[in-house]
Amino acid sequence: MRITDTVTSDMRDHSTFNAQAATLRCEVCRTPLTPLDSTPFDATPRSSSTYSICRSFDCKRVMDQKTTMEPTLFKHHLAFQCKLIQQRQEKENSHKQHVAGIKLKERNENQEIFTKTLASAPLLSKNTLQLIPIPSGISTLTKLPEERRNRYIDHLKNVIEKASTYTHASEVPPDQHHDAYEKLALNERSFKQSPLLQATCDSMCAMCKGGCCADGKEHAYISPVIIRRQMDANPELQKEDILATYTANIAPESAQNACINQTKTGCALPRTLRADICNSYFCGPISTYIKNMESVEILKPVLAIQRSNHAWNRFDTSKPNNVVDVRLIESDQIQ
Ligand code: SF4
Ligand code: SF4
Ligand SMILES: [Zn+2]
Repeated sequence: MRITDTVTSDMRDHSTFNAQAATLRCEVCRTPLTPLDSTPFDATPRSSSTYSICRSFDCKRVMDQKTTMEPTLFKHHLAFQCKLIQQRQEKENSHKQHVAGIKLKERNENQEIFTKTLASAPLLSKNTLQLIPIPSGISTLTKLPEERRNRYIDHLKNVIEKASTYTHASEVPPDQHHDAYEKLALNERSFKQSPLLQATCDSMCAMCKGGCCADGKEHAYISPVIIRRQMDANPELQKEDILATYTANIAPESAQNACINQTKTGCALPRTLRADICNSYFCGPISTYIKNMESVEILKPVLAIQRSNHAWNRFDTSKPNNVVDVRLIESDQIQ
């Protein structure tokens, strides 16, 4: 067969499919079927058997029960599952629209602030000024409830106990933050090369006051590998000593609904006791700034636009993410 024959035949298969697809929908979620919903061996959707179905695992799971369930029972089961799946999809779609709407609104507002700043400062150039949106740390401080304190201590005890079951940090199985150690080394290298870059990032973090710490709750990301490393470096340390060091650093007042160590003046834990993720983490816009600045000789000025929500509730439907502060950070002013 010539190549042109294959192409023509493929086009025919596709147009046949498109004609069918105009009427074909997944029987579970009612999504219109696309060529990707066909099996690799069949140019038509899976309608040649007894039903049409999309690629969703949930839809397939529902239809898989057709062969094992009594027909009337399956009919009710299908109707119920269809409703659930469709409701979930509607919710997901509406959330996607909500997120897209917020992103667009914020982008437009940020752009407006950026343009106004440039207009008021003729020495700045739109090619060098870096727009960096940042969130806000939790500002409501409360006396630390005994129950939160106890939960943190339980977590520490548990983690210290686990750490002591290994003989070296290299034995601790990797967790979801296992790459934070390498990231930390990379950031430290960049900051060593450019202390001004670090100072600029520190200025933004000081302005934000821990918008990324909101999820630390009563674990503060302390994991066995963090403790095991301390044990490796100081073999004379007893489990009780480590626990005592951490508990001695618990602040009497802490940010509400955030990490237990988040205080008015920042993190209550010394850097050496913090998790790698805490020492290495930068939110998306700052990480991008660090990456972009690594190769430039003269640090570009930053326009930091701070919004009211923290790093994890930007799209919260009940809390508008308003602009709360705007600052121009130029490296020659932060030395
Ligand atoms: S890394 Fe980002 S979210 Fe975290 S404190 Fe700094 S500015 Fe705030
Ligand atoms: S331990 Fe400190 S740096 Fe880490 S999440 Fe808590 S407050 Fe933030
Ligand atoms: Zn489906």
